[in-house]
Amino acid sequence: MSKAEVWSGRGPARALRAAVKERVERLSADGPLTLRMIRVGDDPSAQGYARAVQRSCKRAGVRAVMDELPGDSTTDDVVEHVQALNAEAGVDGVLLGFPLAGQVDDAAIVDAIDPAKDVDRLTTAAIGELFAGHTTTGPATAAAVIELLDYYEEPIEGRGVVVVGRSNVVGKPLWAMLQARNATTTVCHSRTVDLPAVTSKAEILVVATGSPGLIGAEHVGSDAVVVDVGTTYRNGTVLGDVDFDAVVERARAVTPVPGGIGPITNYCLMRNLVELVERRSH
Ligand code: NAP
Repeated sequence: MSKAEVWSGRGPARALRAAVKERVERLSADGPLTLRMIRVGDDPSAQGYARAVQRSCKRAGVRAVMDELPGDSTTDDVVEHVQALNAEAGVDGVLLGFPLAGQVDDAAIVDAIDPAKDVDRLTTAAIGELFAGHTTTGPATAAAVIELLDYYEEPIEGRGVVVVGRSNVVGKPLWAMLQARNATTTVCHSRTVDLPAVTSKAEILVVATGSPGLIGAEHVGSDAVVVDVGTTYRNGTVLGDVDFDAVVERARAVTPVPGGIGPITNYCLMRNLVELVERRSH
């Protein structure tokens, strides 16, 4: 028998869905909450993400509308579309389906979203609010990590957490969210010298790099909880950043891929939508 407990994301996802659904119902007296998602072109992973978001919306009682823009759209075309949704009263949240097309400026498009409709909390304004400590609401994937730890009653305060990856979507906001919970957090990246020396000291190790199998037994302490955020699609399968078979023999707990952080993420997105609507009505 393996040493580590396997922490599935299904339980936390179910619990979060039930809580979010109840709040969605309460806010839907005058019509359903509406999420508008923008895709540019027909990138298969953006399409897959869009389908997954639609499924989660349906389960949470949220109306999801997909806006598909042509693959040759310019930054101005997409920004104009975002601005139209910002102005539309019946739109509660705007979400971008990444990857957008190669020719457009992702950052300019993200920042065109009205922060009051920024459901994934990726605008500079939303990230600023999080880093300034004015909110603990952040991007859905980072939030899913916190949700998983809370569900399995893993204390965060005062713990030594190492995050591998420093993107605006996962690593950086997760650092801010862990600070808000009083963890002592180290963030590693591709220029970190001697990664195993740092990660093996972590009480909680979170990995979000998109580098399959990066983390082996030598990266992990024997009492560590290991959370794998990585999802790399290769030959029809999805791979995590953690060498699961090695780490499951070493750590105290480990999340699987698929079936770990992924299922929780979209309900964190729905919760962000609910919070935006609740904020507007106060
Ligand atoms: P990203 O923007 O490419 O950032 C990757 C980060 O990992 C960078 O900070 C990079 O360092 C670091 N890194 C890459 N290779 C490394 C290595 N060998 N050693 C140490 N650090 C390394 O990726 P992302 O958007 O954050 O996504 C990360 C992973 O999470 C991907 O697999 C993505 O698919 C997955 N993801 C999953 C969900 C979900 O719902 N489950 C949602 C979002 C993302 P530098 O900064 O030095 O380049």
